[in-house]
Amino acid sequence: MTTKAQNYLQNFRNIGIAAHIDAGKTTTTERILYYTGRIHQIGETHEGASQMDWMEQERERGITITAAATTAEWTRSGTEDNYTINIIDTPGHVDFTIEVERSMRVLDGAVAVFDASQGVEPQSETVWRQADRYGVPRIAFANKMDKTGASFELVIGDIKERLGAIPAPVQYPMGAESEFQGIIDVIRRRAYFYTNDLGTDIREEDVPAEYADKVEEMRGQLIEAAAEVDEELMLMYLEGEEPSEEQLVAALRKGTVEKQIFPVLCGSSLKNKGVQLLLDAVVDFLPNPLEVPAIKGVVVGTEEQETPDTKEFPADPEGPLAALAFKIMADPYVGRLTFVRVYSGTMTSGSYIYNASKGKRERVGRLLKMHANSREEVQTLKAGELGAVIGLKDSGTGNTLIGDGDQEVLLESIDVPEAVIKL
Ligand code: GDP
Repeated sequence: MTTKAQNYLQNFRNIGIAAHIDAGKTTTTERILYYTGRIHQIGETHEGASQMDWMEQERERGITITAAATTAEWTRSGTEDNYTINIIDTPGHVDFTIEVERSMRVLDGAVAVFDASQGVEPQSETVWRQADRYGVPRIAFANKMDKTGASFELVIGDIKERLGAIPAPVQYPMGAESEFQGIIDVIRRRAYFYTNDLGTDIREEDVPAEYADKVEEMRGQLIEAAAEVDEELMLMYLEGEEPSEEQLVAALRKGTVEKQIFPVLCGSSLKNKGVQLLLDAVVDFLPNPLEVPAIKGVVVGTEEQETPDTKEFPADPEGPLAALAFKIMADPYVGRLTFVRVYSGTMTSGSYIYNASKGKRERVGRLLKMHANSREEVQTLKAGELGAVIGLKDSGTGNTLIGDGDQEVLLESIDVPEAVIKL
């Protein structure tokens, strides 16, 4: 049951982009920010410490660090439905494992980026296993379809064999390497051709005859996967009936959350192909904050009991405040930025909160939502939202923040030392 106050959460997606170094995480993130309208020209940099500057600097160093959480807006193609997509930075470099794990806790879903010419490499496997450990629902993006040696089938095969997961090929590439021209939506049986370099001009057509058999083969694979999690679909499948597009999307989304089903997409972020469809897939297949299990907290003082008392915090802006500080960043203009995810309740600027990990009362100064190249000052951060707090002096990464005077709880967190990262 969703209350009226929770309705906005249905259009929220809190995601990470997980990839090992070089698979194309930076390029994909950059394109996402471009297509969600916050950056006006690919590669353009702005004055001040903008997102793009961060990315440019990090690109030079070969490591990706962006703002800990960036808020983007997306209207699903073919609809007027608006979504807020919070992109949480998940460092992909193998030395940043602690950071990766900590950010995993904050995500409701992730996009795993693979280099389609390499398939699943050992390093991608590491990132994948981390996401497994924290039960993060995922979709896979077979990137670099334009590169020599790129093969969608290679990625599909590796997901099955090396990761032991069930791939659901929701797309199929038209051509590969220098002949990569577009993408087929396997569920809807539509073909998308890219007709300009920026990828903003897309021609939609029926599936070309030469791909018809392949698309049906892929469709068979994904219906089989979806039938595993949906009884009605299973019956239809056994009777040879065709499920509707909506049924298929709903079943795959359920499968992504509950079982090991991974919708697989393809594209080339460098060549600006497939990123808008990837955003549509984020909306279609990754869960909103109401669809993932509520975060739990352990009641302080009962940790030593055989079974400590726990308290659940379903995503509800009207519930008690429960938030996790997941990253501290030093900002040249405003000083210490504490990035938080609010799971329950509402954090209000100027209010007092209680840091249950440190046993300290703290005053929330200003609240910010970070966009790709701007910051928005807001009065509140509600359940499901992410943003940065200015003014917290004592709160560190992994700390639980609750309402002042509320029963003290510590959110399930990952017990890791502070990461030693010098920016
Ligand atoms: P990251 O380390 O995962 O953040 O990867 P980057 O986005 O920095 O990309 C690594 C390298 O792969 C860069 O040289 C990119 O230009 C290149 N690259 C990224 N995406 C694509 C793609 O779709 N096709 C090709 N051919 N190269 C790509």
